[in-house]
Amino acid sequence: MSSPVENVVIIGTGCAGLTAAIYTGRASLNPLVLEGPMPGGQLTTTSEVENFPGFPEGVDGFQLMDNLRQQATRFGTRFEQSLVESVDFSSRPYKLITAERTVLAKTVIIATGASPRLTGMPGEKELFGGKGVATCATCDGAFYRNMEVAVIGGGDSAAEEALFLTRFASKVHLVHRRDSLRASKIMADRATSHPKINLVWDSTPVEAVGVKEGAVSGLKVKHVKTGAESVIPLKGIFIAIGHVPNTAAFKGVLDLDENGYFVPKAGSQVQTKVPGVYVAGDCADHVYRQAITAAGMGCAAAIEAERWLAEHHG
Ligand code: NAP
Repeated sequence: MSSPVENVVIIGTGCAGLTAAIYTGRASLNPLVLEGPMPGGQLTTTSEVENFPGFPEGVDGFQLMDNLRQQATRFGTRFEQSLVESVDFSSRPYKLITAERTVLAKTVIIATGASPRLTGMPGEKELFGGKGVATCATCDGAFYRNMEVAVIGGGDSAAEEALFLTRFASKVHLVHRRDSLRASKIMADRATSHPKINLVWDSTPVEAVGVKEGAVSGLKVKHVKTGAESVIPLKGIFIAIGHVPNTAAFKGVLDLDENGYFVPKAGSQVQTKVPGVYVAGDCADHVYRQAITAAGMGCAAAIEAERWLAEHHG
């Protein structure tokens, strides 16, 4: 039996995807959401969200995403666990190829988000998660009370993570491969003047030490000018070297910039060069990267999809 042709298929369950689901669901389009490996997206790795409008006391990130999901479900959204491996947008209905089946769609909203970039150094993968290597200070910082930790990176994220960690850690080594931060001046000033932050300039991470013991015991770094290697004894390594948009499945089909982010059609934030195919959230936004801006893009994409369907399919 051949698959039915869906009105709208939304790829991703972060803020952008679920907001698109709420809007298209409420428009009686019976959306199908394809759920990838991280249900709820990046906000599920945050504790308190203090800047999402409407929550004066803040809201737990996981709770917020659960609320969005319930709201989407209430309006008839269907969820299916499957990873889109490739797409065929050369003819309509559009085809989304997953490991299990080919999904057919009249319109598609891509809201696949972005994932934290890793360094690739030895020990990083083995010690990731509960063993001392992490990418989210807000999620894991409290585990390092009175311990020494490192943050790798020199951008706003690294400065922010380092400053956040000073609440718990006895010392935060900010390890950067150059001798000045890329972070905005205000964040850089705060980080470089903080008494608990030790700046480790001109140094690249070489190894997360502690694989044999099953827990981080140090970070081996290499001085880029002298080549000298040394180990900083510590218990936690936070990697803050940017994000990678989850767009690999669309390479060669939709326009991507040099960092892999979707490039929408001129004059729009969400329309792509393929009619009826839209992008929303962090996969298409390396500037704002906020939950509320992702939700806004999800809403915009849903309204565009709705209009396009009305025009082309009555
Ligand atoms: P980013 O600005 O791209 O900075 C990434 C940092 O990681 C850079 O300092 C880079 O070094 C370093 N890096 C990259 N690859 C590395 C590697 N393999 N090994 C070691 N170091 C590596 O990323 P971001 O800090 O996540 O910020 C992304 C965007 O979000 C920016 O526009 C930022 O302003 C914004 N943002 C804003 C805030 C805020 O305003 N509070 C907070 C977070 C993010 P180089 O400097 O040598 O390139």
